[in-house]
Amino acid sequence: MNDPDPATILAAATPGGDPAYRSIAPPLWPSDSYEWTDADDKPPYDYSRTVSPNRDMLVEALARLEGAAGGAATGSGQSAALLALSLLPAGATVIAPHDCYGGTYRLIRGLAEQGKLAARFVDQKDDAALDAALGEGADLLWIETPSNPLLRLVDIAKVAAKARSAGSLVIADNTLPTPLRQQPLALGCDLVLHSTTKAINGHGDGFGGALLARDAALVERLHWWANAAGLNAAPQLAWQTLRGLRTLPVRIDRQEATAIGVAGWLADRPEIAAVHYPGLAEHPDHALAARQQSGPGFMIAFELAADGEATGAFTAGLSLIALASSLGGYSSLICKPATMTHRGMPPEAQAQAGLGPNLLRLSIGLEAPADLMADLERGFAAAA
Ligand SMILES: *Cc1c(COP(=O)(O)O)cnc(C)c1O
Repeated sequence: MNDPDPATILAAATPGGDPAYRSIAPPLWPSDSYEWTDADDKPPYDYSRTVSPNRDMLVEALARLEGAAGGAATGSGQSAALLALSLLPAGATVIAPHDCYGGTYRLIRGLAEQGKLAARFVDQKDDAALDAALGEGADLLWIETPSNPLLRLVDIAKVAAKARSAGSLVIADNTLPTPLRQQPLALGCDLVLHSTTKAINGHGDGFGGALLARDAALVERLHWWANAAGLNAAPQLAWQTLRGLRTLPVRIDRQEATAIGVAGWLADRPEIAAVHYPGLAEHPDHALAARQQSGPGFMIAFELAADGEATGAFTAGLSLIALASSLGGYSSLICKPATMTHRGMPPEAQAQAGLGPNLLRLSIGLEAPADLMADLERGFAAAA
């Protein structure tokens, strides 16, 4: 039998998860500790920093969606990133995208400045630059595709094969596409990271992260570090995140369908200098997106054509779409990456990554498409 569809996996009732009453929705076990019946015989659950039934349920669902052997659910996307970096020896070399998520950039750079690791920020679409960096030796290749905020794609199978033959581990931050649109482990990555704060929880009310691994030996190592460093998510968070995850398939379908419509509409506007959306035929990575992802997703970036800085007037003119830095939730949110999500990146690095002053990033939510376009229309009028 083929694996069930992700929607079916996520909608399945799991009464076996509640041995006491066989409830259809999973119970929450907030207890910090569990009783031992014999001091010489450790029970499967003993202390919730180490192991929790609610975390296990969430990780099992995510692992099935990603085709992973297992993993850890953490307190934030950033703690999942720290967990991944804990797997490396001192002085390890990490190759990360020059245009990665600002928090990832800040963390890797901070550890590099302390001398804990060596960091190289490379444009992974530049084969010669990536080959040169891998040629100098690498312990971890960090992939983030589509990139945030510009939605540039990297060919995962290609760069992962190169990194693995250079002896490097490979991790992909799969937050934007979600496991429903992209499967990095099947394309040769060892690890996959999520900020579950975003589309997976989907309701803008739960900070969390996850790190999943392709093979069991790596899962064991990351469990060890997650426990040692106390990076695991609280049971309450894991319970809530699984609740949000249940409806991810319908949310993604709806958000993506709206994004396709809005991106096409934006591309025809005279007030716009560029729209970055992999679903548009003119996007440079359109063909790769069609091959590597099962859909173009819910994120759009666009640049206003104004001479001076116009994003302030534009966003002040919006009344439905809020100016806020998260993404993937039920509400559409807009942000200015240069001063919001990516302020941890110095101006030179921002310029290199292509983050201009008139760039805005739009996360499409569940609103009616016509209402979103009417709101963007208000933004254009305010910026005119
Ligand atoms: C938000 C985000 C993170 C960090 O996750 P937090 O939950 O905010 O710690 C990492 N990567 C990407 C792509 C993100 O959007």
